[in-house]
Amino acid sequence: MVYNKKNLEKRSIFQRLIRDAVFPYKNKLILAVFFMIIIAITTAVLAWLMDPVVNQIFIRKDTSLLWYVGGAVFFSFVIKGFSTYAEAKIMANVGQSILADMQNRLFSHLILQDLAFFQSNSIGSLVSRFTTDIVMMRRVVSTGLTGLGKDTLSVLFLVILMFYQDWFLATIAFIVFPIAIIPIALLGKRIKQATKNTQIETGNFLSFLQQAFVGIRMVKSYKMEEYQKLKASEIINKIKKYAITGDGVKAITSPLMETFGGVAVTTVIIYGGWGVINESTTPGAFFSFITALIMAYRPMKSLAGIHSQIQEGLAGAERYYNIMDTKSAIVTHTDSLPIFKLSGSISFEDVSFAYEKEEVVLKNLSLNAEEGKTTAIVGKSGSGKSTILNLLARFYDPSSGIIKIDDKDISSINIHCLRDSISIITQDIIIFDDTVESNIRFGDPTAGLDKIIEAAKSAGAHDFIKKMSQGYDTYVGERGEKLSGGEKQRIAIARAILRDAPILVLDEATSSLDPETEKIVQGAMNKLRRGRTTIIIAHRLETIRDSDKIIVIDNGKVICSGTHEELVSLSQEYLTLYDIH
Ligand code: ADP
Repeated sequence: MVYNKKNLEKRSIFQRLIRDAVFPYKNKLILAVFFMIIIAITTAVLAWLMDPVVNQIFIRKDTSLLWYVGGAVFFSFVIKGFSTYAEAKIMANVGQSILADMQNRLFSHLILQDLAFFQSNSIGSLVSRFTTDIVMMRRVVSTGLTGLGKDTLSVLFLVILMFYQDWFLATIAFIVFPIAIIPIALLGKRIKQATKNTQIETGNFLSFLQQAFVGIRMVKSYKMEEYQKLKASEIINKIKKYAITGDGVKAITSPLMETFGGVAVTTVIIYGGWGVINESTTPGAFFSFITALIMAYRPMKSLAGIHSQIQEGLAGAERYYNIMDTKSAIVTHTDSLPIFKLSGSISFEDVSFAYEKEEVVLKNLSLNAEEGKTTAIVGKSGSGKSTILNLLARFYDPSSGIIKIDDKDISSINIHCLRDSISIITQDIIIFDDTVESNIRFGDPTAGLDKIIEAAKSAGAHDFIKKMSQGYDTYVGERGEKLSGGEKQRIAIARAILRDAPILVLDEATSSLDPETEKIVQGAMNKLRRGRTTIIIAHRLETIRDSDKIIVIDNGKVICSGTHEELVSLSQEYLTLYDIH
């Protein structure tokens, strides 16, 4: 299944970002802008104060103004300091809140996606949406907007002051700055590309790490350490290369600005100095002007940097919205449909299905599983057995044909109702890094400890749980590493008992347990099956023989079905499959 990654338009991304992320905090932002205005005004006032400092104090030596001007300078610094603190605090709050909102929204969206989505998006790339991308977006919103607001306002007020002090000089100085913007805008594009590449490779790296560590047993047993090392360093080097390119381009921006700034300052000194010597301007006005120019330099420089920061953030936002815009292929908006209890007769009618478009896995497959009975599905590996179970639980939808439970098309059944009606126990049992009790409680989140113990007893798990260091409160470790294969199976059975769903979907474990554990697990399994519609991918001849009906699948088709006795006398394939003579 391919998800179309449409390229969202930059402007629309920006608008969405403002609407979704920024708008809810508009009141706080207005307050922040208020403080930004104060910062800008005090900055300009400080530059302006250079005029009386030079003219009245230094040149005219007017003692009466000394205290007033000193006081005004001090007062301006205090107000500016307080406003800077208040503005930074508000923006930090807004920035972090936006980060949290976006992460919450993204997670809520992802957890509802279907399996096909997770197949076409690697875990690493999804993780990096949460980390790097959202952090970059937060930077756009907090640092970017702060900078944009504070710096633009500061520059604006300083420029007004400069024009007030000497409009001609100001005009000369400002011819140089716009020229500086052109190469900086060009550099912004290159920064964006480098950032995009770094992001993609970082996502790949996270996926690689995940696979390398999860599959560490495989890596060791096949002595693949060297190979993995090579692969890791290949990706690391790629990231290094892109990051160096990006940083290199960023590194040019600042000195470029500085050089242009230098040209402006030099011009002003020469021309302004000449004006003072000729007495066409006062030294105070000149110093006030040059103070404003130097003060404007820093916010101007960061305004130039903001461009690339916004570009980076928008690249992150684009990836974020691409994910947010993917719709689950499984239509689950069946929420409005009523919840009712299914009893469990199952039928597949002419069902075809392909994971990838060209490879058809099930071909016009039809089968029935009677309510309360056990139906075994047997067949060679790759024949499509697990796929049948995937379709029944609506992890995927068929490309054609209908699957019915209780004579109702499952696509028209409330998805929660459908999944509530099915317990699944597969070979790779999912155990969470939590306590034994919580792991069993997944079957029924409302269950009390007494019900959990009862289920564990039925599953033959109570005895080994009691022997664990903290009984039901024992943490089982990541992926249940503290449990043996047989123990995990019994936890899964206890979970299913607690769930008490009418339909049971089992994928019989192929790895053998020791005979004693096997007996306990089988006993628990048989208890669980009683009275439920069970579909089981069976491997053990014993399970197959006990089933009410056996369906033999080959190459995505049912080739025969019946009881064990019937098939033994009827089907050559069945005999070959189980080597029965
Ligand atoms: P069985 O359970 O009988 O071993 P499966 O139903 O797992 O067979 O697989 C049937 C076919 O579908 C196989 O050819 C397998 O490679 C393919 N297949 C299974 N799962 C996926 C998947 N998630 N994506 C793509 N192809 C898959």
